[in-house]
Amino acid sequence: KDIPTIRQLYRTSSLSIAQTRRYPSVEAHLDRISLLQGDITKVQVDAIVNAANRSLLGGGGVDGAIHDAAGPKLLAECRPLNGCETGGAKITKGYDLPALHVIHAVGPIYDSKDVETKESQLASCYQNSLDIAVNNSLKSIAFPCISTGIYGYPIEDATHVVLDVVRKFCDMEAGKELDRIVFVVWSNTDRAVYEKLLSEYFPPD
Ligand code: ADP
Repeated sequence: KDIPTIRQLYRTSSLSIAQTRRYPSVEAHLDRISLLQGDITKVQVDAIVNAANRSLLGGGGVDGAIHDAAGPKLLAECRPLNGCETGGAKITKGYDLPALHVIHAVGPIYDSKDVETKESQLASCYQNSLDIAVNNSLKSIAFPCISTGIYGYPIEDATHVVLDVVRKFCDMEAGKELDRIVFVVWSNTDRAVYEKLLSEYFPPD
């Protein structure tokens, strides 16, 4: 079966000059896991995951970028969904995005006094997104670094939680349904964290 390469998944033609400096880097582990630095709204997968808030009505950061790129029909589909609880996720179409769908996942607002709850909510929004992808017969999914922007989750702590969930998912039968799981990082710092931890959770053969 022909699975597109990570470079084919990234729509470089529409990149601005500023964005070309963020030309995606590639690291594959376990074949199906990729790391990409760049703009998630340019990634052509079956579903990109949105770091949404509980209203599902848009916001700043990656959420704003996804709504801007998808166009107003995305918000129109989100409105009747009546929001989503923290740790949950809901799927919509992708509209003007190159991605076919958006999975709106609600990560926790970080609180250092309640780390256990925050960890389980972060794990749960990644797990729910993966389950939704499999239940809708999707083959590829791209995640941003949920909760690590405005919501304040420390990137290294968050990445341990995320990679633990994804590693376990890949080792299960359901995990075999997905051809590609892409982690999309924006900053150099986040990229360095993912590069380091991916090789721990998905060691090269
Ligand atoms: P949250 O509220 O869940 O913390 P943010 O949108 O503030 O969500 O940040 C989540 C992550 O998304 C941050 O690492 C931020 O740098 C990154 N980000 C922002 N815009 C984009 C984009 N267009 N593509 C990919 N990642 C992005």
